[in-house]
Amino acid sequence: MADIIQLLPESIANQIAAGEVIQRPASVIKELLENSIDAGSTEIEIILKDSGKSLIQIVDNGKGMSETDARMSFERHATSKIRVAADLFKINTMGFRGEALASIASIAHVELKTRTEDKDVGTRIVINGSAVQTQEICQTPKGTSISVKNLFFNVPARRNFLKTDATELSKILEEFKRIALIKPEIFFKVHHNGVELYYLPSSNIRQRVVSIFGKKYNEKLLPVQEETDAFSVQGFVGQADAAKKSRGEQYLFVNERFIKSNYLNHAIRLAYGDLLTKDVHPFYVLNLNIEPSQIDINVHPTKHEIKFQEERIVYNFLNVAIKHALGKYSLRPMIDFESEREFENVHSSMGVSSGMDYPKAGRKEIDKWSSLYEEIKENQMSPSTDDKVYTSAATDEGSLHNSLDKIRSKPFQIHNKYIVHQIKSGFVLIHQCYAHERILYEQYNNQLSEGQGNSQKLLFPITINYTPERYTLLVNMVDELNHLGYEIENFGDNSIIVHATPAELEEDSAEDTLERFLNAYQENIEFQLGVAENLARSLAKSTAIKKGRRMTEEEMQTIIDKLFACKNPYVNPDGKKSVITYEISEIENLFK
Ligand code: ADP
Ligand code: MG
Repeated sequence: MADIIQLLPESIANQIAAGEVIQRPASVIKELLENSIDAGSTEIEIILKDSGKSLIQIVDNGKGMSETDARMSFERHATSKIRVAADLFKINTMGFRGEALASIASIAHVELKTRTEDKDVGTRIVINGSAVQTQEICQTPKGTSISVKNLFFNVPARRNFLKTDATELSKILEEFKRIALIKPEIFFKVHHNGVELYYLPSSNIRQRVVSIFGKKYNEKLLPVQEETDAFSVQGFVGQADAAKKSRGEQYLFVNERFIKSNYLNHAIRLAYGDLLTKDVHPFYVLNLNIEPSQIDINVHPTKHEIKFQEERIVYNFLNVAIKHALGKYSLRPMIDFESEREFENVHSSMGVSSGMDYPKAGRKEIDKWSSLYEEIKENQMSPSTDDKVYTSAATDEGSLHNSLDKIRSKPFQIHNKYIVHQIKSGFVLIHQCYAHERILYEQYNNQLSEGQGNSQKLLFPITINYTPERYTLLVNMVDELNHLGYEIENFGDNSIIVHATPAELEEDSAEDTLERFLNAYQENIEFQLGVAENLARSLAKSTAIKKGRRMTEEEMQTIIDKLFACKNPYVNPDGKKSVITYEISEIENLFK
């Protein structure tokens, strides 16, 4: 029989490799950003078109490449980062496999321009599907610019597998955040379809977190900083009331490389104890520094797993570091002596101690919260001894109800902003706007996941004309909006017709409500949350009663009842407090 084994042509081998390394536009972003960082760049600009499907361009001011290196960089297994096998055990660059550029060039139209500092002219190379089209001298600033156009032009199966533009963009931005958060010293700019999405001048981690996630995070961040001989951790964890329903905002890095680890996530979560309810996830951005020889990063390039030699010790170290951060800043009411000692133990014995439990003081706080609702109900429904006269006068059910109503402690409003309501052990102070946001948010969420909101037909349907961007945004959400009780019809030509609005909305004009909603949506959109969650949040924000609005007693009572029937009454959807309790004993102390 004739020999049948042949070596694969290079371009096919590259395409196969690309199948593993490059799954979507976000993978290209990750690889190119890592290269720019490895090249020592201090400024990196990302330019995207159509969520990276038509164009991904990265421009950096790093060390650039010589003419020969520029050509070599597209060869498979071509890397400047590893020379001998021993290098594998002390890797401190982000990439090292030498696969990324070869892979990308095999499935896209790529243009590279690069220049090193010591040369006046640079090199320009154009490669389409592994075939070099052009290599020439060019004028270009110091650094490297790579444009990747028409990704997967020659692999239709891959192209068809891509998700909607919104999803691919959110994946890109997630990949971007995983790098921008841990490299705050680098100046990043991101443009998508001509719109600037991020402009992040060089800063420290705290400022970077705030510029990525928003100003409201500033007061919610607790610094984490611990060190032993073997490793150290730095970064921030969010306070318990900033925890979110979605798991998105958790960033753990090992030696500045993003990793995913359920095991270590558990260590962090456990540190909060029952300060957190089961269904929320704490915010964190943490970097763990470990001697590179103690970890194995030689796992699959697109997976974010990591192997530690001493996993359990790392677990304990992280757990205690977070507890320490939470206790130190008195989020936990008084960390007790026990737990401080526990911390010292781990420091000295490198964490082999077991059964570390959170301090008991945290428990008390939670118990207080959960008894609050009971107390409020009780206070409203059962007359105290002083009120006997009313109950004994009650004969039938109707008048009993009336008399109960009379003896309810009346809520009263201060500064048209807060509701004060007496409970047995003291009083609660409710932020009317945040409380209403919480109520509506949970209600919209229920309607979105389960059923149909109540509609109120408009006497005269209204037609609204939008800018193309707003129109596209709105049209993509029509189904969800209709679920909530809207009846919106797409009229085409940048117009919609509103036939009905959710019954519980205040009787504003539908146009104004939608306008406020769209503004809130665009301001607050967090891509990783998905349409429904963003919708519920922004609709809650835009339709809640505002501060400064005088409320009737009945309205206040409704807010109180509905708030305490919520799953999580204590914070608005952004994590701002919606209600605070004051114990009468605390007040008495003030008068001593
Ligand atoms: P790896 O990063 O694993 O080495 P790549 O295919 O991503 O492999 O890159 C190949 C080589 O090209 C790198 O080792 C580096 O020398 C060079 N290179 C790639 N991108 C840049 C850049 N932005 N600036 C300078 N050199 C770069
Ligand atoms: Mg690389």
